[in-house]
Amino acid sequence: MLPRISHWVGGAAVAGASGRTAPVHNPATGLLTGEVDLASASEVGTAVAAAKAAAAEWRGASLSKRSSVLFAFRELLHRGAGELAEIITAEHGKVLGDAHGEIARGLENVEYACGVPQLLKGGFSEQASTGVDVYSIRQPLGVVAGVTPFNFPVMVPLWMCANAIACGNAFVLKPSEKDPSASLLLARLWREAGLPDGVFSVVQGDKEAVDALLAHRDVAAVSFVGSTPIAKHIYETGTANGKRVQALGGAKNHMVVLPDADIDVAADAAVSAAYGSAGERCMAVSVVVAVGDVGDEIVEAISARIPRLRIGDGADGGSDMGPLISAQHRDRVAGYVDAGERDGATVVVDGRPGKSGQRTPEQGFFLATTLLDHVTPEMSVYADEIFGPVLSVVRVRTYDEALDLVNGNEYGNGAVIFTRDGGAARRFQFEAEAGMIGINVPIPVPVAYYSFGGWRSSLFGDTHMYGPEGVNFYTRGKVVTSRWPDPATSRVDLGFPTTR
Ligand code: NAD
Repeated sequence: MLPRISHWVGGAAVAGASGRTAPVHNPATGLLTGEVDLASASEVGTAVAAAKAAAAEWRGASLSKRSSVLFAFRELLHRGAGELAEIITAEHGKVLGDAHGEIARGLENVEYACGVPQLLKGGFSEQASTGVDVYSIRQPLGVVAGVTPFNFPVMVPLWMCANAIACGNAFVLKPSEKDPSASLLLARLWREAGLPDGVFSVVQGDKEAVDALLAHRDVAAVSFVGSTPIAKHIYETGTANGKRVQALGGAKNHMVVLPDADIDVAADAAVSAAYGSAGERCMAVSVVVAVGDVGDEIVEAISARIPRLRIGDGADGGSDMGPLISAQHRDRVAGYVDAGERDGATVVVDGRPGKSGQRTPEQGFFLATTLLDHVTPEMSVYADEIFGPVLSVVRVRTYDEALDLVNGNEYGNGAVIFTRDGGAARRFQFEAEAGMIGINVPIPVPVAYYSFGGWRSSLFGDTHMYGPEGVNFYTRGKVVTSRWPDPATSRVDLGFPTTR
């Protein structure tokens, strides 16, 4: 019988009762490996009720108690990293080394949240008025929910839950139904770390569960990471229902290569950032913008590196790149390459099944790496987020044309520049319209003590995720104005209070 991947409510695994499930595959073999429960609205309600009861207690836990749970969770994550990575690879398909990288970047957020006593320090103004002191505090929201994508089944939940829990909230996770098992190991580790039951819950599910969270009156805030159309839906529905929402969407990240760039460094970076995790990263580089006469050289340097990449099962230590998440997604990505070719792009390296000279396993949802040259902005392969191992090269004459492309794009997640000219890099940092900028760094995911987020259709809402903005998102401010009674100065005064 197939393993059943269930919910986690009130500190224990709870089998689904909706009668609806979804299949879970190992993308490297194409085989069915499990069935995940899909929660009904009433099951979501049960999870939220348990979370609400737990939140009432957890907000009273001292900062040192919360911090000690976070430290214990960090240790357990370190120890459990091997098991967690295997689960990620088995359901997502990324290679084990990449899965470990995802866990390490998630761990950073746990480490940041360990400092919660420092993070929640408020301000204090003694004698703001005569005998009056004013101070600010930040308090948790109550029950907060996180809805996460398939491509980072551990890191993205940790972006959210570490700060949410450290700040005194109860957190309900709705993971992707495509790779749901890692969420349950996280839940067990939280319990082992001493987190009270109900403070971290998991509801498995699809749109029905998400919409139930968005409608539930006891869910105060929703953090979302996923594709742009769903991010927009989450933001609009959640805010219409009075919730605080941060919804991160898709991306189309440009890498501008100036003529003075070190071509080998730029090509190494382009190959790593375009084909790592088979391009299924929101910070993947999907467009190289070759400026001036750098086009031929960079295309040649990238193509020279591609044959060295080994494509195979992520669980096999020899693989550099694994499969895509599903057969349907693989076919969609291949369809974009067809469209690019029809539209006049040059297919320099072809990763499509039957056309690729690259070796890929016969089973599983594999697509080899693809490099397209002479791509233009009207082509769908340029305009749309593809989310696969397809890198497009657009050739432009000047830096200004490159900047126009970056700033004219629908998305604004990351944008990077490769150059040895400090002035050009400084100008790009100032002018590029994206939330995260890389200067000779191809995947500029901020460290956990900054915050992560894009501009335009890459983010709906006012706050970026994790770091200081995450702490603000999961707390609300309160300002206390206080005076100890002094009969000598007390009198009736109907005027508006002013300082004196
Ligand atoms: P997705 O939008 O299909 O799904 C994300 C989550 O939303 C899942 O939990 C899913 O169950 C849920 N969902 C799907 N359809 C829904 C609907 N109609 N109503 C309510 N909920 C729904 O995204 P995905 O395919 O899992 O992930 C890939 C996408 O995520 C890419 O677009 C990628 O760029 C984006 N992403 C963005 C970031 C970022 O930080 N900006 C990070 C990682 C991934």
